Amino acid sequence: KQRNAQEPEFLQAVEEVFESLKPVMAKHPEYEAANILERMTEPERQIIFRVPWVDDQGMLRVNRGFRVQFSGALGPYKGGLRFHPSVYIGIIKFLGFEQIFKNALTGLPIGGGKGGSDFDPKGKSDAEVMRFCQSFMTELYRHIGPDVDVPAGDIGVGGREIGYLYGHFRRVRGRFENGVLTGKGLAYGGSLVRTQATGYGLIYFVDEMLKYHGKSLKDKRIVISGSGNVAIYAHEKATELGAKVVAMSDSNGYIYHETGIDLAKVKQLKEVERKRIKAYLDDYPEATYVEGQKAIWSIPCDIALPCAAQNDIDYDDAAKLVSNGVIAIGEGANMPCTNDAVKYFLEKDVLVAPAKAANAGGVATSALEMSQNSMRYAWTFEEVDAKLKDIMVNIHQNAYTAAMKYDYGYNLVAGANIAAFLKVSDAMMAQGDY
Ligand code: NDP
Repeated sequence: KQRNAQEPEFLQAVEEVFESLKPVMAKHPEYEAANILERMTEPERQIIFRVPWVDDQGMLRVNRGFRVQFSGALGPYKGGLRFHPSVYIGIIKFLGFEQIFKNALTGLPIGGGKGGSDFDPKGKSDAEVMRFCQSFMTELYRHIGPDVDVPAGDIGVGGREIGYLYGHFRRVRGRFENGVLTGKGLAYGGSLVRTQATGYGLIYFVDEMLKYHGKSLKDKRIVISGSGNVAIYAHEKATELGAKVVAMSDSNGYIYHETGIDLAKVKQLKEVERKRIKAYLDDYPEATYVEGQKAIWSIPCDIALPCAAQNDIDYDDAAKLVSNGVIAIGEGANMPCTNDAVKYFLEKDVLVAPAKAANAGGVATSALEMSQNSMRYAWTFEEVDAKLKDIMVNIHQNAYTAAMKYDYGYNLVAGANIAAFLKVSDAMMAQGDY
């Protein structure tokens, strides 16, 4: 704790996992003896670097770049890059730590890592974003590779940024090493379904959880925070399965539309025009826009899907959701609920789909992209989607089985942590004292 005192998000992520592991540690003294927990919380490698770039006015600007290679026990480090002004080492470490467990849950051979920068892509021209990405890759390329570390997107890093990053990687390496990044465009080695994967996977997982309790998504009212990649495709799949999404947000505020939010309009605003969510009202004046993102959780709903950023739902928000009759929470974002919010939901018998399990569909499909790159072959949309669905169903089953084995009942938060921990720690034990 002392060593990482300046990194509250990282401590929060570690505490949440360690709390669930108490019965495992009690039953398996060999993990304690091998000092597994301390080894697991110290990244194998952290790289911090200067990212100088020239803006459209000719001014030289400087940002900070990060890549944390947290654990390679199961495979090459794998995890996204986040470009957001709030990024510092504590955010990257919390994300990297969670990534180890999430990747283990997918059942695919990938280790855990994460990276990014405090660069803010908002309001920057395409040319500025390109110059920034090129400068970022000028350092990053030394540390990554298809068998070493394979970054992807996250907040602020989508198809445009991955394209610029890949182009520059190819330029400095002088080779078409396709498996070095995932989330690539379809024209140069991307996988079908990768764009939709995290949102679709989240809904497959929530659907599985509901089915287990004899319920379904049909006619459920859903509130989603965020309106980025995860939020948009969660909306798409939930609507396809018969639910109605009544609210979405961005970091400025939220929109509420009682008859259901028109996803095509949100896609146009966010994916094409890069506008604020408020502009939704230009076409739908009967909808409501509320400044500030927090109040979104006071809208009555059956299912809440936080798909924006960490610590989005705190204890007070959880209390509001429960008093309005929420039955399930699907964590699309990473660590979107504070630890006391999650505890409260579980106490009140609200079903919680924990991020590590529920949003693992994105990285799982990234791993499928790596497989296709290795084979120099591409599967159809239906093939990848079927594999994604299978993976999400398996994760649900494994989390449930682990929770039952350690007497947690239907607590997927604990179950996901335990199932993932056992896999990673067994690989570490087998590999000696690293
Ligand atoms: P995007 O950049 O596409 O979208 C992020 C959305 O969240 C935007 O609507 C953004 O609003 C909003 N947002 C971002 N930061 C904040 C903040 N501090 N407060 C309030 N709102 C915020 O990112 P993604 O959709 O890819 O990622 C969303 C979450 O899902 C993140 O937690 C990410 O780590 C997680 N995730 C993503 C995966 C993926 O495959 N993309 C995989 C697994 C997890 P604005 O535009 O105003 O900033």
